[in-house]
Amino acid sequence: MRYGIISDIHSNLEALEAALDFLRDVDALICPGDIVGYGPNPNECCDIIRERGVITVLGNHDAAVIGQMALDWFNPLARAAIEWTADQVTAANRAFLESLPLVHRLEHFVLVHGSLSSPEQFDYITSPWETIPTFAEMPPHNLCFVGHTHIAEYYARPTGELQADQISMASGGTVALSAEFLYIINCGSVGQPRDYEPRAAVGIFDSDAGTVDIQRIEYPIAATQKKMRKAGLPKPLWTRLEFGA
Ligand code: ZN
Repeated sequence: MRYGIISDIHSNLEALEAALDFLRDVDALICPGDIVGYGPNPNECCDIIRERGVITVLGNHDAAVIGQMALDWFNPLARAAIEWTADQVTAANRAFLESLPLVHRLEHFVLVHGSLSSPEQFDYITSPWETIPTFAEMPPHNLCFVGHTHIAEYYARPTGELQADQISMASGGTVALSAEFLYIINCGSVGQPRDYEPRAAVGIFDSDAGTVDIQRIEYPIAATQKKMRKAGLPKPLWTRLEFGA
């Protein structure tokens, strides 16, 4: 089974369409959260995720838009975009966001936006020591897909040990999974990369081959920026797209 992984889409329709075009041959799609927030097309992105039956968990921006998370958690720019998004989302898409779980456990992997130990708090995993609570909650699974940081990277830890290695995947590449290790994998962000690589990040998990392939995909960034400017979204939110920062 081949799964396409599209995380942190953030209402960026051009990036989502480019990602889905690249992933057109996969068997299923999974989204580790944050369909909305920051970008100009929240409804179009929700419609696609809903209609395609993407296996999705709730992200912190999704939660804030439906009033399940306090706005003071966010910086002023993110908050402005959340408030704008909350005014835009249709009743159907609001209901869809409200239906999303915090954690999904499937046959081959676990899916969560931030961390598995306290998914409702959306803790960030940015260093090996921050992986410890999530690794502790993973068994019987040995693979967990996360989002949230917008940085393509993974953490690998030998079974029965506490020390994990942190490996950057910002330039893409393939992770060959071993049964002797536990893995937390962030395939990066489709709609707002922050690993100094502005192209959309997508993953392909092949459960038969035991591989996770991360790729970067070109999309028309200027078109997204133009829409954000027109919508009156804060300037730093659209200028950052061309730097991937
Ligand atoms: Zn995000």
